[in-house]
Amino acid sequence: MTAGARQRQVVFALGSNLGDRLASLQAGVDALTDDRQIRATGVSGVYETSPVGGPDQPDYLNAVLIAVSPLPARALLDRCQAAERASGRLRVVRWGPRTLDIDIITCDAETSSDPALTLPHPRAHERAFVLVPWLDADPGAELPGFGRVADLAASVDDGGVRRRGDLNLRFSRWGARSSTADVAGDTPEPANRGR
Ligand code: AMP
Repeated sequence: MTAGARQRQVVFALGSNLGDRLASLQAGVDALTDDRQIRATGVSGVYETSPVGGPDQPDYLNAVLIAVSPLPARALLDRCQAAERASGRLRVVRWGPRTLDIDIITCDAETSSDPALTLPHPRAHERAFVLVPWLDADPGAELPGFGRVADLAASVDDGGVRRRGDLNLRFSRWGARSSTADVAGDTPEPANRGR
């Protein structure tokens, strides 16, 4: 870890609607948290969600991962895109189906209007598939410039967002593959571990 660099809270939104969706989300969590400079502090439950916009496509699984990291936001985006590539993601149609999509929702209160990395994520405030899992992972969360995630989640149509109580993501605070307890078996675990 970079000596003296300030730790910031980062909120990642993950989605998958092709192939083994849960395995893809878990691979995304693992890829991010294998980096010892990204320390997970919480993960939401897994939600099945109806696609919003784009072509006709299968339902998504979505989740939110919360971490702390000293890395600049641009480096975090590189990590997200590397994880997407590792999942075999092809960018064919904008907003089309994908094996793994990872967005950065917030990086502390950093703001950026750069199209390559807009912070907070420009559509997070209106996306139930982001707000509902985020609220689950962090009931006190705030979206800079928009207010409490609890209020935002209550104001959007969340009819297409269903909690999958039978599915859970695992993470380790110190690297996803560094603890056998975190990778052994398929036993469902409670969400929000580590909070
Ligand atoms: P998507 O199709 O959702 O994966 O969009 C990917 C594009 O959005 C990439 O070109 C990113 O550089 C850009 N982008 C802008 N802001 C963000 C953000 N906050 N998180 C992830 N990608 C972003």
